[in-house]
Amino acid sequence: MAKIAFIGLGNMGGPMAGNLVKAGHDVTVFDLSSAAVEHAVSEGAVAADSAKAAAADKDCVITMLPAGQHVESVYLGEGGLLACLSQQTLVIDSSTIAPETARKVAEAATERGITFLDAPVSGGVGGAKAGTLSFICGGDDAAFERAKPILEGMGKNIFHAGAHGAGQVAKICNNMLLAILMSGTCEALALGVKNGLDPAVLSEIMKQSSGGNWALNVYNPWPGVMENVPASREYEGGFLVNLMNKDLGLAFDNAIKNQAAIPMGSLARNLFSLHAVKGNGTLDFSSIQRLFLESEH
Ligand code: NAD
Repeated sequence: MAKIAFIGLGNMGGPMAGNLVKAGHDVTVFDLSSAAVEHAVSEGAVAADSAKAAAADKDCVITMLPAGQHVESVYLGEGGLLACLSQQTLVIDSSTIAPETARKVAEAATERGITFLDAPVSGGVGGAKAGTLSFICGGDDAAFERAKPILEGMGKNIFHAGAHGAGQVAKICNNMLLAILMSGTCEALALGVKNGLDPAVLSEIMKQSSGGNWALNVYNPWPGVMENVPASREYEGGFLVNLMNKDLGLAFDNAIKNQAAIPMGSLARNLFSLHAVKGNGTLDFSSIQRLFLESEH
């Protein structure tokens, strides 16, 4: 079993670190939030006072941070982790960030002889808790093979998308599609309800028909249709609108750089940014349902 430092214990990182403890690893944690650290300690992790202290003498460092700037600040620069890690340490970043940022950190790691893997995840908070996440990795074969047994403690499907940054490209494509599917699902439900249909009945029909998709199957956005999803607890927790906006921004920037047309992704980005501007940034992303209702709460 490995000695692992886990940095970033939010909605995703908290349960992921807990699953590594359950898998028998020796897990040391750090987060800027002391409440998040205390929770991880209650699940069997050891607390550290800083990212550097957590990462000292570990086989593997895993980060699960909000965005690219957080990842850069933790790893790069004079005070960054790469300056003090030993060459034996495997570094895995599971945050969703721009492919260019992942490549920048990977290059800095490679210059110091440290192995780096970008390994963003899919599966939501439910998947993080259940240990059934998909990991979408970018890096060389040796790094992937080294990381796999550790990632298997937190996930079910471990994919190797390609070289450094490829994991992030695949993740950005996936989340752009998710935003489109979630907005479309909300729009269809609102239309049906406007016609007097029961949202639960309509959901069941579409699930079993050609409109079936992940939002309907496991993350229904209409309050009360499905238990244990953010829609049934006032859209608390889950995957924040602000984070979905960040990912749609990454897709948009990437499409411009690569001259790719993303009309549906652009529309979804506009819907989610409008929803955030109306004060919903810290709700779960399925709250986009409210944008389609006549009286928003
Ligand atoms: P979150 O905001 O709940 O958690 C982020 C954590 O990082 C917070 O606890 C914060 O205190 C901590 N943090 C920030 N800067 C730090 C620093 N310098 N040092 C230590 N800790 C620091 O976010 P989340 O929902 O857990 O998402 C994390 C990443 O995973 C994001 O990139 C997100 O896009 C991605 N993601 C989220 C989901 C989801 O369903 N929530 C699903 C897939 C991927």
